[in-house]
Amino acid sequence: MNENDLYQDYDVAPNLQFKTIDIIRMGGLKCSCVIEASYLDGLFEAPNRITKAAVELSFSVANSEILVLGKVQGQREVQCARCLKMTLQPFAEEFTESYSTKQEIIDIMYLVRQTIALSEEIRFLCKPDCKGLCPMCGQDLNVAPCKCQPENLSPFAALKGKFK
Ligand SMILES: [Zn+2]
Ligand SMILES: [Zn+2]
Repeated sequence: MNENDLYQDYDVAPNLQFKTIDIIRMGGLKCSCVIEASYLDGLFEAPNRITKAAVELSFSVANSEILVLGKVQGQREVQCARCLKMTLQPFAEEFTESYSTKQEIIDIMYLVRQTIALSEEIRFLCKPDCKGLCPMCGQDLNVAPCKCQPENLSPFAALKGKFK
């Protein structure tokens, strides 16, 4: 059997719930679909969020188990930990899970949400060498340097004038 034969006209539910009986009847399933961003709300700490996502799935039936291999990819809008700018970044995560054929429903959305939630980094950076904001005046140092001279931050700065 050609691998492409597994791609069927299967209507994937928007909530990514699959009936185990359907998967068994088809002897497996390969499918892909777009996930509405509203299903992925609240996965990241605000203001970070998922703006776009799509999933590719491969179900295979073996004995009393259904094995699922999946890949979710899309775009996330995240805040830079240094300069606080929001940037769009692509993301892609793979996952694998097995289910008993006795289970009525295979809830892929739960799996996808879990996978994405675990992928959140503690500190996003807009670029690896982001210069961040000046702690004195708040100027974005990636755009231009500010007038706060580093020597003004030194505890000896105040003494300097006295010994002139
Ligand atoms: Zn930044
Ligand atoms: Zn400054």
